Amino acid sequence: MRYSALQILKQGLSGNRGWGRAWRKPEPKPDYDVIVIGGGGHGLATAYYLAAEHGITNVAVLEKGYLGGGNVGRNTTIVRANYGLPGNSEFYSHSLKLWEGMEQALNYNVMHSQRGIINLFHSDGQRDAAARRGNAMRNQGDDAILLDRDACREMLPYLDYEQSRFPIHGGLYHPRGGTARHDAVAWGLARGADRLGVDLLENCEVTGIDIEGGAVTGVQTTRGAIRARKVAIVVAGRSSQVAAMAGMRLPIESHVLQAFVTEGLKPVIDHVVTYGMGHFYISQSDKGGLVFGGDLDFYPSYAARGNLPMVEHVMEAGMTLMPMIGRARLLRSWGGIMDMSPDGSPIIDTTHIDGLFLNCGWCYGGFKAVPGSGHCMAHLIATGRPHVAAAKFRLDRFETGVGLMDEEGTGAQHNLH
Ligand SMILES: Cc1cc2nc3c(=O)[nH]c(=O)nc-3n(C[C@H](O)[C@H](O)[C@H](O)COP(=O)(O)OP(=O)(O)OC[C@H]3O[C@@H](n4cnc5c(N)ncnc54)[C@H](O)[C@@H]3O)c2cc1C
Repeated sequence: MRYSALQILKQGLSGNRGWGRAWRKPEPKPDYDVIVIGGGGHGLATAYYLAAEHGITNVAVLEKGYLGGGNVGRNTTIVRANYGLPGNSEFYSHSLKLWEGMEQALNYNVMHSQRGIINLFHSDGQRDAAARRGNAMRNQGDDAILLDRDACREMLPYLDYEQSRFPIHGGLYHPRGGTARHDAVAWGLARGADRLGVDLLENCEVTGIDIEGGAVTGVQTTRGAIRARKVAIVVAGRSSQVAAMAGMRLPIESHVLQAFVTEGLKPVIDHVVTYGMGHFYISQSDKGGLVFGGDLDFYPSYAARGNLPMVEHVMEAGMTLMPMIGRARLLRSWGGIMDMSPDGSPIIDTTHIDGLFLNCGWCYGGFKAVPGSGHCMAHLIATGRPHVAAAKFRLDRFETGVGLMDEEGTGAQHNLH
């Protein structure tokens, strides 16, 4: 069924009894051309683009829980292309362009809202860094505007401009940045892939990867063995565990990141805002909740829940930047498991095992990457060659040291990126 305003009207007049399932619930077939392990944003996008762009439709996405139950439905929904380093810059630019056509391509409203992002700066040094980043963004063909303090005050009047410890000097404004409703992205991609013939197998955990003579031949799952000529590992926070099934040791650490949402409020924050002197970023959802987050919990963990000291840390940063937030009541907090790489940049690559592909290392920035990652991963699987926008996301950079992309300049410590 094609979704449209006319369809809403038609269904509304007939008691909404005609809406079908958004995707099928197929039984696993004995073999596929491609198996994608992981039904998060990246896995679903990979399957969708394999079918949509390369005509490869004998594909299964294997998800151990339900579609969208991982980080794709747990993030703070920010979508942007404001990276500075070659490699990241062209990739996130590519991804943002795909976001801009995604709703039309999928015939699905993912509530992509280009409301603009403002990264605040609080010193001359930070202003220089912001100007450099803005120039890199413009060189890449994206948009960036350097705002002074008065322009910030006009656009973000609710911030505290009087505090003397970390005074707001200005901000780097990225108008095409914004948010998208995260679980709708998973549902839209799932529906799009399903319509093209991809089997989405939920409650199907991969427990082993079959390899014969140096080539992948299939996987073992909780729903039985399934054969495939090509297998893609796209499991975000579980990357090390799943890669270990193929005897690989990845340069990835898994850490928990928390997020928070308040009760619904009238519209008050109409951009995404990030604090330059504390790890705090905030936007307002279409339902009215203030959605915000901060730092990792700082120790490796596979628990999708966080600790109380980090809750306090994030609230303190929020109160420093915008004291009015203290009046809002917190509704919920949650955590997700981040696949942190040593340079903060991702991996989209082949492996030493023929037919086995790897997609991971998204740290806490992988939501905005969803279409770009799926598009480039599908290209790699279909053609055996890296897509030009993701050619620098090689696994061997952590072995050779060549081509590291340390966007934050924090060195090889996973939890600092
Ligand atoms: C609190 C928080 C805030 C964030 N904020 C942002 C943000 O604002 N902007 C941004 O760009 N990014 C953000 N991120 C990061 C972003 O959400 C992730 O980088 C991205 O979602 C990871 O890719 P994914 O969607 O494919 O992961 P997931 O949705 O986690 O998908 C991986 C899937 O693999 C499945 N899986 C694991 N093991 C197996 C197995 N053995 N067999 C079968 N399936 C398996 C899991 O169940 C899971 O569904 C945030 C993350 C969190 C947690």
